[in-house]
Amino acid sequence: MSYGTNILRFLGLLICILTISCSKDNTLQISVNSDEGIWLQELTSPKYNGRKTGTIECTMAKDYIVEELYKLGYTPKVQTFNFKDSITMNNIIVDIPGEIDSLVIIGAHYDGAVASKYYQAATDNASGVVALLSIAKHIGHSKFRTKLCFWDGEESTSNLVFNGSKYFVNSEVDKHRIRWYCNLDCCGRLNDDIYLYYSQSIQDLCSNAYELVSTYDNPNFNILKKIQNNRGSDYVPFMNAGIPIWGWNDCSTLKFNHTIDDRQDKVSISKIQYISTITLKMLQFL
Ligand SMILES: [Zn+2]
Repeated sequence: MSYGTNILRFLGLLICILTISCSKDNTLQISVNSDEGIWLQELTSPKYNGRKTGTIECTMAKDYIVEELYKLGYTPKVQTFNFKDSITMNNIIVDIPGEIDSLVIIGAHYDGAVASKYYQAATDNASGVVALLSIAKHIGHSKFRTKLCFWDGEESTSNLVFNGSKYFVNSEVDKHRIRWYCNLDCCGRLNDDIYLYYSQSIQDLCSNAYELVSTYDNPNFNILKKIQNNRGSDYVPFMNAGIPIWGWNDCSTLKFNHTIDDRQDKVSISKIQYISTITLKMLQFL
């Protein structure tokens, strides 16, 4: 065996090792080096047992989100209500004053579909909750009065859905002031596609706002735009009340939704960070 062959073998092995470590880094996105990674790690932990509405573990998840919001300097309000079959639900609301007394709302549901320690409810919807916490961390000054809402009861309970957001819309005294609602549900899946969706009435507004900020550089993500119909997530109660909606989504073809395969290794922290950043940039033009 020649010296040259040995060198080639060594280089081949080195390339192999480097490839394996790189692909490992690309698939294992969860790093506790960022707040987003820490939040995702915590919310998908087995101790929350899938965060099913009405369970003690869902209440624990609520307490964790409230605690993190306090750490970010907010005083969140918990909107508690009793649902059918005596289930207690809790929305968490952060109210941020703005220069203009028009109200905008950004929401994500924190409950999961199944009570199981094997069910992490990672893309649906720890990813949206983490994106909303990231927005809370970075929003600072706001043009419009802004409510950041963490919804309970989005998933089916007693055959009804969107219970937290529905309760909010029905009880919001400033409903007439709501300019739009932005929804973050299943927005952090580890793939390259992201849907930016909107009501037809604000199609141009949203599309133009995105175009104005799209120079923010993250070429890995392919942004697809669509007009949203009124089914699927917490934007429905807002649409039904005649309020324009928009949001981000990437799971319309998810096969693992509501199964134990919806795990944190299906989530991209960099996509969550991209969505929270681009949303904050779009707020200037919406
Ligand atoms: Zn969801």
